[in-house]
Amino acid sequence: MVQIRTRFAPSPTGFLHIGGLRTALYSYAIAKHSNGDFILRVEDTDQKRIVEGATLALQNILKRFGLVWDEFYIQSERQKKGFYKRAADKLVQQGHAFYCQCKPKNAKEEGFSKQLRDSCRNKKFTSGAVKIKVPDNVAVSYFDFVHQKEILWNTNDVYDATLLKSDGFPTYHLAVVVDDLDMKITHILRGHDWLPSTPIHLLIFSYLSNRRPEIGHATDILSGETGKKLSKRRDSVFVEEFLKEGYLPEALLNFVMLLGWAPKDNREIFSLEEFVEAFDIKGFQDANPKFFIEKLDWMNGEYIRKSKVSNLKSQIFDFFEGGYDKDLIGKTLPLVKERIKKLSEFESLAGFFFERPKVDLKLFSGDYKKHLKVALGVLQGLNSFDLESLNRKLMDSIKGNKFKTGDFFMALRIAITGSRFTPPINESILVLGRDEVVKRIKKVLK
Ligand code: GLU
Repeated sequence: MVQIRTRFAPSPTGFLHIGGLRTALYSYAIAKHSNGDFILRVEDTDQKRIVEGATLALQNILKRFGLVWDEFYIQSERQKKGFYKRAADKLVQQGHAFYCQCKPKNAKEEGFSKQLRDSCRNKKFTSGAVKIKVPDNVAVSYFDFVHQKEILWNTNDVYDATLLKSDGFPTYHLAVVVDDLDMKITHILRGHDWLPSTPIHLLIFSYLSNRRPEIGHATDILSGETGKKLSKRRDSVFVEEFLKEGYLPEALLNFVMLLGWAPKDNREIFSLEEFVEAFDIKGFQDANPKFFIEKLDWMNGEYIRKSKVSNLKSQIFDFFEGGYDKDLIGKTLPLVKERIKKLSEFESLAGFFFERPKVDLKLFSGDYKKHLKVALGVLQGLNSFDLESLNRKLMDSIKGNKFKTGDFFMALRIAITGSRFTPPINESILVLGRDEVVKRIKKVLK
């Protein structure tokens, strides 16, 4: 049996796109479901597009999602070792590629000129940039394992793409094929944008080897709002942005799992391990998935609810960069955990535990002062400051004074928290402590 080997091959040009995370995840799952190898390969041959620090950031973020690779390569390092040059030479010798000495009109054109038939193809130059000599009128095809169908081109539509630039750097087309062969990749999964490059790759594969990996092109992720392809101009697309907003990595990953893949049952909640186990390459969906943020919010809420308080405590502490006392976070969590969908929401719901709120008197209605005075009396008079006594004494005084329960607690809630929407108020009073609560009520009464 062949060892399954997949790769994630990002260019280090910035932050990780949600689609990139999905490609990495599915590639990881294809390999790991069969105990195979997952390879991380940094495709940095387009030196002008490299963003400083992007490789390290990428590695860190993949690790945060548990997508740990077995092998790591950087193309610019392989370039120094001559792997791509040797392949280009071989193609020229075979007559499948030629040297071109046209001066590129601009930097971009050097690697990406899209002239269908290049004027240098029969000039037999012996130096310059190397381009592929695409044969006329040949059918090239492959079976796409995502879409489960044959995709076909006629080479009359395939252009003489540059393979090696005159500076000795390979283009994506050459580097990707050489590496996928050298690294014995069995399954290539990549974004749909790369489909137009595939016929060029198919030709190069056939010239360099008698083996070719399986190929699949992931669907496009559409915005749930606009129905258009997610775009960084219109939508949040970077994984880092989602984490900064307080989505948990496990929840985001789980959400991404279902953007284009579905299990046989309707199960929705998967850890990475469970996903790998359940993964089936036949489960890819043909239609473009929609990114519904409400669904992500729901899923994140599910993960927050089932998190252990001890873990969540650290996550919230880190999220707010140590701005809130860790022990106090721990004490408030049982009261707020059911109610927040993102870590960021902790602040608006539980901020009053950490800092005395500014109370807007306009929030009160009716004779709130009467309510607060009675509550103050109960709090000060309590012999034992526990939930049972607090509940009982407050209810007794509500009855005794013929207050409306809802109005009474609303006044108390606003005075203590500055808000009409809070965690259960009596429990919150216990966490805050009697002295603090008394001070807050007195302040409002003044
Ligand atoms: N370097 C390409 C990218 O940035 C890789 C495409 C592929 O996987 O072949 O997405």
